[in-house]
Amino acid sequence: MRLDGKVAIVTGASRGIGREIAIQLAAQGALLVINYTSNDTAARETLATVEAVGGEGIIVQADVKNMAQCENLVKTALEKYNKVDILVNNAGITRDNLAVRMRAEEWREVLDTNLTGAFNCTKAVLRPLLKQKSGGRIINIASVVGLTGSFGQTNYAAAKAGLVGMTKALARELAGRQITVNAVAPGFIETDMTAVLAPDLKENIRRQVPLGRMGTTKDVAHMVIFLASEQAAYITGQVIAVDGGLTMH
Ligand code: NAP
Repeated sequence: MRLDGKVAIVTGASRGIGREIAIQLAAQGALLVINYTSNDTAARETLATVEAVGGEGIIVQADVKNMAQCENLVKTALEKYNKVDILVNNAGITRDNLAVRMRAEEWREVLDTNLTGAFNCTKAVLRPLLKQKSGGRIINIASVVGLTGSFGQTNYAAAKAGLVGMTKALARELAGRQITVNAVAPGFIETDMTAVLAPDLKENIRRQVPLGRMGTTKDVAHMVIFLASEQAAYITGQVIAVDGGLTMH
């Protein structure tokens, strides 16, 4: 599944799933645009690992909540590499709280980052992608929580469910141009985001996973690489769970 010469923007690539996606894309020959918002040390570590696997890339700071910064992210990618082939909308946060206690900022911040952020980056990339006339890939990192709901996560579940709807609508709009749009819905993956969960809650989750473990960032990244590849050219508008069987029906 080689991606030699393909230019890939990965949002939230400084840590966790986004970092692993960047590394795996680079290992397949893609040129990386590594986005982050605040943790530049972590972003530099991602770039160092990308280079260690023989890849190359640039780091671009941008808050995906901000449209102008997303436009600058894409502009910087184009200035460096002259094109963009792959956008992975991965940046995401949690601000968990029971709905009855949820503050307006907790709702807004999660929706603005996880849903509007993906729209902002997609909108910024669309004109250049359409102008290139060479197809493309948009891959949104959703969550099983957007399919099943989750206690204490009305904001996060709403944002991720919104991302699923956005994926399907965009897939219809862009199919005629051979741009595929898919979502990957991870289950519980070992990253900073889940490191904060109480050990007994983690153990409880693990017991519910048919494959008997939490996922790794590689588990998710491998699906993203497949969707980014030529081999996935006939797949669009899909939501693919990478969750150890957690949400099978
Ligand atoms: P993580 O380890 O907390 O990393 C989050 C990444 O997003 C960081 O690189 C962070 O950048 C970046 N980010 C946050 N807000 C941003 C913003 N406004 N603009 C640009 N970048 C921003 O999270 P993760 O677990 O890898 O999650 C990655 C994605 O997978 C998220 O969309 C998450 O919802 C989804 N997901 C995760 C799990 C899981 O179990 N971990 C399950 C399902 C779905 P900084 O380093 O600069 O802060």
